[in-house]
Amino acid sequence: MTALPPGSTIGILGGGQLGRMIASAAAQLGYRTHVLAPDRESVAAQTASSLTRADYHNRVVLADFAAQCDVVTYEFENIAAEPVEWLAERVPVHPSPVSLRVAQDRLAEKAFVADLGGTPARWAAVGTRAALDAAIEQIGTPAVLKTTRMGYDGKGQARLGTPADADEAWAAVGGAAVLEAFVTFSHEFSIVLVRGADGTMVSYPPPWNEHADGILARSTVPAPPPIAAHWTEAAALTGRIADALNHVGVLTCEFFATAEGPVFNEMAPRVHNSGHWTIEGSVTSQFENHVRAICGLPLGDTGLTGAGVTMENLIGDEVDRWPDLLAEAGAHVHLYGKREVRAGRKMGHVTRVTRR
Ligand code: AMP
Repeated sequence: MTALPPGSTIGILGGGQLGRMIASAAAQLGYRTHVLAPDRESVAAQTASSLTRADYHNRVVLADFAAQCDVVTYEFENIAAEPVEWLAERVPVHPSPVSLRVAQDRLAEKAFVADLGGTPARWAAVGTRAALDAAIEQIGTPAVLKTTRMGYDGKGQARLGTPADADEAWAAVGGAAVLEAFVTFSHEFSIVLVRGADGTMVSYPPPWNEHADGILARSTVPAPPPIAAHWTEAAALTGRIADALNHVGVLTCEFFATAEGPVFNEMAPRVHNSGHWTIEGSVTSQFENHVRAICGLPLGDTGLTGAGVTMENLIGDEVDRWPDLLAEAGAHVHLYGKREVRAGRKMGHVTRVTRR
């Protein structure tokens, strides 16, 4: 791939905060960005050069979008794969729709990762209420029932403490689902890896990710020793996944740190909330490195800028703390420009870098 010169246009499918931060990084490198999203409020469009507000399935719109973009990327994985595949026949799309298809389907994802030597939690496919009973027999409890598709931030999930919870879990999740054994872990962490168009890869030191109600609350780097011990193995697996997908751009894999080694949880074929600390905490942010990768540029240094970094999400009305946070020396406040505060909604984040 020859490098796209500055001034070229990057198309972004999706209008959320990830698109917003990709657009900012793209602007820094002299690129234009064009957001395509159906949402009434697109916070990505606030920092992008242009916006098309339309359904992803509108072929006339897609053809026009393809004609205006030099490369296209996506900022979330719950977009239908068909329009992305259609676009990929007309304009380079990175990461490719193959990454999207695998990451969208928990069953496909687990099988793919297990084939590459990774260890997901023991799982069984569940399509009917009767199949859930069979899966409980096989996997045991405690367990987690998850929708196969369209889950995020712990949504579309139900925990089963005992087999007696099956009815309630099925009522909550139902449909195409996967039952996973409940993993006993000491910590959660992620590998945020970037793969260039030429196959070059770099990855960031793994953050320790703490969740509240299934939503990321905080990421801390460097991670504590139980995570550091799994770093090499988890990064190598993420690299094998990226190579096998011929992935171009950021790929994030989430893991549980267990006594038996890193257990794979899920992957995201995109920049990730657990990588937001890289904006100030790393020499090159995940957003800039994503732009570099999809534009065919050399990847940037992923080293730390300080002794340590924490990133705290501002969820729901936590965003009301912004005046105090702004008054705090050294706190880097990011607000996503969302008009409406809702419980569980990611409204912003704050990053603190400890000096060396
Ligand atoms: P997910 O959306 O699949 O990443 O799940 C959201 C959160 O639920 C994870 O970050 C974990 O804290 C927890 N979780 C999910 N799956 C499991 C599991 N199999 N065992 C234990 N905890 C889990």
